[in-house]
Amino acid sequence: MLNDHDQDVLPRCPRLGHELTFGYCRQEAGRKPCRLILNCWWERFDVRSFLQANLPEEVMAGVESAGAAPPPPKVQSLVDLIQQAKERIAVVKPEP
Ligand code: SF4
Repeated sequence: MLNDHDQDVLPRCPRLGHELTFGYCRQEAGRKPCRLILNCWWERFDVRSFLQANLPEEVMAGVESAGAAPPPPKVQSLVDLIQQAKERIAVVKPEP
């Protein structure tokens, strides 16, 4: 199942600098996996095969191409993280 590894823990995220679960990494980019998920998790388990077995083909293609692309500029990355945090807050806390 897609959430089989969600409780697995990585001691230090290279982007955020602290411990994270696979569940976070799997949905980091607005319900899509973080672009670095293959690089960060390959030593823990066969993350590529796991995602290939559990993600739609087009999402998996995005993971593969994002991992091969150069990283976005730092400012763009920060803007994306802020936008994703806003979206998560909006989902958790509906407006009155
Ligand atoms: S996959 Fe992304 S969010 Fe997860 S540890 Fe790696 S860089 Fe951090």
